[in-house]
Amino acid sequence: MGKMLQFLGRGSAFADENNSAFFVNGKELVLIDFPLSSFTKMRRIGADKLAGVKNADLTVIITHTHGDHAGGVATLIHYAFYIMHRKITVIAPSDEVAADLKYLIERIEGCDPAGYELITADKAERPWLIGVIPTIHTPQLAGRCFGYNLLVEGNNVVYTGDTAVIEPFLPYLTAGTYLYSDSSASGSRVHIGISELLEKVRGLDIHLYLMHLDQPGTIFDIAEGSGALAAPLYK
Ligand SMILES: [Zn+2]
Ligand SMILES: [Zn+2]
Repeated sequence: MGKMLQFLGRGSAFADENNSAFFVNGKELVLIDFPLSSFTKMRRIGADKLAGVKNADLTVIITHTHGDHAGGVATLIHYAFYIMHRKITVIAPSDEVAADLKYLIERIEGCDPAGYELITADKAERPWLIGVIPTIHTPQLAGRCFGYNLLVEGNNVVYTGDTAVIEPFLPYLTAGTYLYSDSSASGSRVHIGISELLEKVRGLDIHLYLMHLDQPGTIFDIAEGSGALAAPLYK
């Protein structure tokens, strides 16, 4: 059994290490969201070391455009282009988010268009990418927030991204699914609370990992005995 997803950070928006995960598929290092804190950490460790292969293909899949999810993408593209001499693949969950990312990467951050390829999930043709799951997060980004349904090491994986609700993901939680879910201590209009999350997935035959934690101590206290685990940090 492999390691499934590992995390470069599992904190919420104002944490030192914002939430982002990765897994390896052959030669491809797949990064799920990429805040600046993950760029710093990955640069220090080395992308190939993370991937466990030389000259790994680097792919970033984006859930939504908040800075703690997409804020390191352009810096990674610059770094890959000028220092590593590699091209990054960026996968957007929808055409609309792709257009926003293109504006961010090229118009605002001024990346060389030759340094990256931007594709939408429906055209990505990756064996590990099953599909996107639209969800509700912040009203300002209504219609532009997504989770992902992935196939990692033969396992069904559901990754919520930031979400206020768990209902959109429930149809994907087949037996044995690895669910990586946003969870906040108290719950809010934009992030689902740990108590509500546990209540709504109770009894399901899944592996539940908690991520995007605002108050880890409180969240782990509430989750104790539920079988839910903390999203595993890359050491
Ligand atoms: Zn976030
Ligand atoms: Zn967000």
